[in-house]
Amino acid sequence: MTDGRALAREFLEQQRQLGGDPVILPDGGTPGSPGWRPGSVEPPGNAALTPGASPGKTKAGPAQSDSALPPPGLSYDPPGGDLFSNDPVPQAGSLEAIAQLVATCTKCRLCEGRRHTVPGEGAADARLVVVGEGPGRVEDETGRPFVGPAGELLTKILGAIELPRERVFICNVVKCRPPENRLPQFDEIAACVPYLFRQIDIVKPKVILAMGGTAAQTLLNTKQSLGALRNLVHRFRGIPLIVTYHPAALLRNPNWKKPTWDDVRIARRLIG
Ligand code: URA
Ligand code: SF4
Repeated sequence: MTDGRALAREFLEQQRQLGGDPVILPDGGTPGSPGWRPGSVEPPGNAALTPGASPGKTKAGPAQSDSALPPPGLSYDPPGGDLFSNDPVPQAGSLEAIAQLVATCTKCRLCEGRRHTVPGEGAADARLVVVGEGPGRVEDETGRPFVGPAGELLTKILGAIELPRERVFICNVVKCRPPENRLPQFDEIAACVPYLFRQIDIVKPKVILAMGGTAAQTLLNTKQSLGALRNLVHRFRGIPLIVTYHPAALLRNPNWKKPTWDDVRIARRLIG
């Protein structure tokens, strides 16, 4: 797709799917009109294609998206590793060094079923670190994070805030695939999390986006629900952290696209 109008149309459609405010085109057409619909997604706000009517908005008016950031939330400051210990993880000086350690890691049972480790990928100087739960089938086959269906949606979400995925660092709480995509267990997370913490230390992003309950609860050291954690600016070692839905959950429940879009825009504003 090369012509500007087509690109703009694709962009607007994407914003619509993500629950953005309706856009009225000069010719009276709207990105929400039937010809635009690529799939079955029909967000609740879509009926309102007139300016001013925006039932998708539940919070007080435009201030939400234009000025006020959400209030502060939790703050978690886990101790860094002991530089004088024999543990190589806190000493690893680069993302490549972490990936090498992960590649041969047998610290938890998830090493048994893996085809590839999935340490994470992206820019070492990324301003945003995105954290998911753990590799799925396609990730396990390729060794790359977020390349299956959920990954395609993540790539679109990042594109919508003008952050190409190459400019972001994308990783997971656990680096090996849990069998049948079950939730990672507590001891598996505990074994793997030093890699994630070191990755964040190395990248030093401006913002962390925790996608889904596992990432949010791990990075904030809490058992609070995703719903309770959304819409707050948390801190991980001082770095602002925003919690949102996991893209795989969005694929199952398109009603969460609008709140996810709100969260991602907050993250975007914090990046500056
Ligand atoms: N889901 C995740 O949490 N991470 C991936 O890398 C892919 C799907
Ligand atoms: Fe090691 Fe993490 Fe893989 Fe477990 S999930 S084997 S801790 S890299």
